[in-house]
This record gives sequence, C-alpha cells and structure tokens, in this order.
Amino acid sequence: MSEIILAETAGFCFGVERAVEIAVSALEKGPKPVYTLGPIIHNPQEVQRLEAMGLLMAENLDDIERGTVIIRSHGAQKGVIEMARLKGLNVVDATCPFVNRLKERVETLAGENYQILIVGQADHPEVKAILSFAPADSLVAKSVQELKENPGIKSRVGIVAQTTHALENLQRVASYCVGICKEIKVFRTTCQTTDARRKQVRDMAGKVDVMIVVGGRNSANTARLTEAATEECPRTHQIESAEEIAALGIHPGSKVGVTAGASTPGWVIDDVVGTLKKSPG
Ligand code: SF4
Repeated sequence: MSEIILAETAGFCFGVERAVEIAVSALEKGPKPVYTLGPIIHNPQEVQRLEAMGLLMAENLDDIERGTVIIRSHGAQKGVIEMARLKGLNVVDATCPFVNRLKERVETLAGENYQILIVGQADHPEVKAILSFAPADSLVAKSVQELKENPGIKSRVGIVAQTTHALENLQRVASYCVGICKEIKVFRTTCQTTDARRKQVRDMAGKVDVMIVVGGRNSANTARLTEAATEECPRTHQIESAEEIAALGIHPGSKVGVTAGASTPGWVIDDVVGTLKKSPG
C-alpha cells in the first residue's frame, strides 16, 4: 500500500485497559479458579489470550462454585455482587468508573421521580446492568424511531445514554423529547473516549481511499466507529484480525486509514498494520 495512516485513538480505552490489567492481576493473586461473568471485553482474540492464561468464563453465578469472579467493565446487574459475596466468592470489580457514573446518574434521576430513558441498545450488557438499577417504568431506545414505536413515555423524563452510544443519537432523542414531554433532564453520559474516536474516524475517513476498522463483531463501540467511517468513506471494512485483509481486495497504491474499537488490543492492531505494509503496492 502506498500509505497507511493509523488513528491515534485506535485501541484500548482507559476502562478496557483497566479491566484487562485487573484480570491479569486476579489471575496472579487468585484465589483460583478465576472467572468473568460473560466475556471480559468484546474482543475474541484478547479473550482467547486471557483464557490461555487460565481465565474462565461463566454465564451466571450458578456456574461458579468457588474462587474469584471478575465483574467486567460493563458492570453487573443489581444484586449480582452481593449474591457472589454471599456464595463466598472473591469479587473483583472491574466496572468502568464511567459506567458507575452512569448508574449514579440513573439513581439521581429516579430519586427526583423522573421516568428514566436510556438511549442505547437494549440487549447490550451495560444497558441491561444499568436498567436493573432503574424503576420498572424505565425505557430503552436506541433512536428516535425506536422511541416513537414505544407508547410508554411520560411527561417528566430523565435521559441518559449508554456510554458507547453516539452522542448525536442522544442529542436527537433529547430534542425529540423536548417536543413531546413537559419536562426533561439530560445527562451527557456518553464516554468522551468514544466521542473523540468517532470524531477522529470521520476526519480520517474523508481523506483516505479505504478505511479499516479493527474490532470484535460483538463490540458495540466498534460498530459505531464503522457506521461513522462509512458515512465518509464508502469503502470501509470492519475486520477482527489481519487474516481478513487478503479478502478485502484493496487496490495497490491505495491510501488506507486504520482505526480500532476500544476493546481491540494493540497486538491485533500491530498485526493488521504489519500485514498491510507487507501487501503489494
Ligand atoms: S468506552 Fe468509555 S465507558 Fe466504555 S469502558 Fe471504555 S472508558 Fe469506560
């Protein structure tokens, strides 16, 4: 390739890096076995690396009888940490501080009797965890369209967003609610890391021939980056690893921009960039 540009913001964010460090430390200290509830991060390659070091994954507490349980960066649903302690497990909490702040915002809004509206993906583990701390009449919608399809909105609404959701979506939903509610209160809970990455990927995607976004297919923030890049560069590809590059059919001489999701480890990004450099052109 004639030119490869790597985004400065590519790769692990603060919260994911912290969660991986906590997991490695827990594996060293024990007590073993050491489990995570669900994948520690949404990146299969890094999960495999940690599994090779001895990290086990459980879907729920019923599958863990002894040892250590790590709460991943997305957090855990209400009661899970207390239940794990009651079972006698060593609990290591790797919940990202920004996710904890989102939870505090939800509790504040609930205390002020606002109906909670979480702008995000209902099936994402972070949203499921946050929703479990919110009152029963709370809503989740990832877009204005989805909110319009939900008849349950009340006149006083407190709005927050999934940390990795697009800030523009939070703005659109809040703007829509101004028109249909009597009172709204909005907390900007989108993570600044995510906002900065999306801005940088847009700038970069408009200046290259091909954009490559590296990240797990189950990673919400990687999917948001791919969406943002595609708006500026139609030839945007999302891949998980360097093995997928050959099938992309990138023309020799192309200017290629590379970025990566917040859960993509540096060694996977290095592998992608190294493979691109070795490609003909
Ligand atoms: S994207 Fe932001 S909120 Fe999510 S884990 Fe990373 S630092 Fe935390």
